[in-house]
Amino acid sequence: MIDGRLVAYLAYLAYFTYLAMNDDLYKEEILEHYWDPHNHGVLEHPDATAEELNVLCGDTIRMDFAIANGKIMDVRFQGEGCAISKAAASMLTDVLKGKDLQQAQAITQKDIFNLLKIPISPARTKCALLGFEVMKKALCPPPTK
Ligand SMILES: [Zn+2]
Repeated sequence: MIDGRLVAYLAYLAYFTYLAMNDDLYKEEILEHYWDPHNHGVLEHPDATAEELNVLCGDTIRMDFAIANGKIMDVRFQGEGCAISKAAASMLTDVLKGKDLQQAQAITQKDIFNLLKIPISPARTKCALLGFEVMKKALCPPPTK
């Protein structure tokens, strides 16, 4: 005979196994962006550009923007550093492409954490937000184009 509490316990176990598996899935997504970053490189004549260094981890990110009629037509980034900083920047460039400047400026730190999907420890927060800071620096105030 199956005890009700055992069923509850097994359901609980299955749920946490499921959560742990999802976590691995998201970590894998981060590593994919790290090894094969999207929108990687530089633009020859960027309308806006910025670079930032995270001294805590030694990460650097640079972003170039091509802007026309208040819209981000193209974006490229270059970076050296840890997987979190590169993956977050890579994911952010995917989001930024084709966005209006206003939409880009409305992106918040919380949006970046939502993109990464895994919990980021306080020590890695600067890594996760480096690309975001670079974007803010390049686009606020908005380039006149
Ligand atoms: Zn880092």
